[in-house]
Amino acid sequence: MKKILRALAIVTLGLAVLLVTIRAGDAEWIEGKRIQLSTSLTVALQPTSADTRGLLSSACAVRPSTSSSKYRRLPAVTGQLPLSRFRQGLDAAASKDLSTDSPSYSPREEVILAHPTNFGRRFLQDLYGKPVQNDAIVVLHETVGSAKSTINYFRTSHPKDADQVSYHTLIKEDGTVVYMVPPDRRAFGAGNSAFGGSTEEAVKTNPNFPASVNNFAYHISLVSPPDGRGNRSSHSGYTRAQYQSLAWLVAKTGVPDARITTHRLVDRSRQRSDPRSFDSQYFFRLLYLYPRNREISMQCSTPAIAQEE
Ligand SMILES: [Zn+2]
Repeated sequence: MKKILRALAIVTLGLAVLLVTIRAGDAEWIEGKRIQLSTSLTVALQPTSADTRGLLSSACAVRPSTSSSKYRRLPAVTGQLPLSRFRQGLDAAASKDLSTDSPSYSPREEVILAHPTNFGRRFLQDLYGKPVQNDAIVVLHETVGSAKSTINYFRTSHPKDADQVSYHTLIKEDGTVVYMVPPDRRAFGAGNSAFGGSTEEAVKTNPNFPASVNNFAYHISLVSPPDGRGNRSSHSGYTRAQYQSLAWLVAKTGVPDARITTHRLVDRSRQRSDPRSFDSQYFFRLLYLYPRNREISMQCSTPAIAQEE
């Protein structure tokens, strides 16, 4: 009996040590592998570098900073994040069974991380400390510029608030889906903006700028055709592959039809008209072919960090 008790004690002690070890090591699960968030990350997650470590966390921030000139100076990002940081459920075999009608379309996907000055954490409270609980919306855009110049701009450090801009995701002419900002982070896709009619939804997060939808928006941008570079009111439109990819992507956000909108509709500056020449009937026809799920989740996680770093 004594022997058994002693053995039990040793096992219990061993478990306690193991638990302590797991707690002490700041770790994350990525594609079934437990990744230690230390310098070994660089090795474990090629080509993720130590610079992108903080971006693996989906933590919310409690409240925006009220200081008026808070320029963000963050180091250059030299690494990447895994695809699973942008979309869960990558082995979608199960979702195929949900609907026999759903098309077997799946686009090429790329991760090209935006520079962290160009996006932030989602907030639990607005600038004045009022809790915000808006459901997610999807906001559609077009780039106007080429994919290359848009991506280059988002990859560039912009310390001044006024220069910062990003979308979560870009869809190239060939249908390639380019993930640039993790969905649980706040992309800077719309300036002065609000969603809805009589009860307008907007969150003020910066003392120097009007309220916007960014805190609860998932911003997707279609790369404009070459004849859409200027500011004419229309152009030749988007490719079939872009519509296919857009429907495939939006279905994975689980956002209901009534909360899918455009930059033109949420804009309150009267300066934005994108996406121009967008065939929304064709888009919704395609969207209904896909099962809705939440592989792309805009929910940031708690406990939140006090303020955006
Ligand atoms: Zn836009």
